[in-house]
Amino acid sequence: MPELPEVEIVTRALRSRVSGLTIEKVEIFSPAMRTPLAPLLSAGLEGRKIVDVARRGRYITVEMTGKKYLLMHLGMSGVLRVEPAAVPRRKHEHIFFHLSDKSLLRFECTRRFSLCEACDGYPEKLAGLGVEPLTADFSAEYFFAASRRHSGSVKNFLMDNAVQVGVGNIYAAETLFAAGVSPLRPACEISMDEAAKIVAAVKRILSAAIEAGGSSIRDYRHLDGSEGRFSRLLRMYGHAGEACPVCGTTIEQVRLGGRSSCFCPKCQK
Ligand SMILES: [Zn+2]
Repeated sequence: MPELPEVEIVTRALRSRVSGLTIEKVEIFSPAMRTPLAPLLSAGLEGRKIVDVARRGRYITVEMTGKKYLLMHLGMSGVLRVEPAAVPRRKHEHIFFHLSDKSLLRFECTRRFSLCEACDGYPEKLAGLGVEPLTADFSAEYFFAASRRHSGSVKNFLMDNAVQVGVGNIYAAETLFAAGVSPLRPACEISMDEAAKIVAAVKRILSAAIEAGGSSIRDYRHLDGSEGRFSRLLRMYGHAGEACPVCGTTIEQVRLGGRSSCFCPKCQK
């Protein structure tokens, strides 16, 4: 599943590629992804110029003239491509946005968990999201204070989008390993010092992942189809049963909130 770094990379690529272009026509090829797609045809998108493309959590917003927005979420397997109109449609490409430079913004989704909706004004769905982890709002003080109310595991707390957005299973595992905190610990029992280590690790690891082009796990690809390099730098995620890169102890795997979580029982307390 694309996490914050992957969505940030797609957002940046899309912003530089489509800003200033006008949507000339919208075509849909299936009735629905996560929600019905027909409303895109009657939303009055044609003739509007794309003003900006931005990310909020794992959502992508495409702002157009007249305060119209497209709200997109890649879900498990969504892929956005900008390609010439002549490239034949792939089987799971559900939406084409015809752009004024004669290219197509194509939305592909094999498992239909992706979202693409038109909104009048800034999307209301984004109002309840937590702070952005790469901003100053995400501080040790903020994380520590918010964690006092959560008796569940610190890993699930780290992945709670109402607290901070964009940290999914991959980066939660990497962050907690870097911070030396066990994913099993109740969030309300971590210390201020541990909160500071977790927050610093989140920022460092997400930034490094963006730099490296993200982690190509399963379906994630760049706009140009290339793969990210960060997956080779993952030290915990996907390494159950292997030796910890720091101490050599066998990496363990547990299920937390329905997701598998790898951790080193010696390095992470
Ligand atoms: Zn270890």
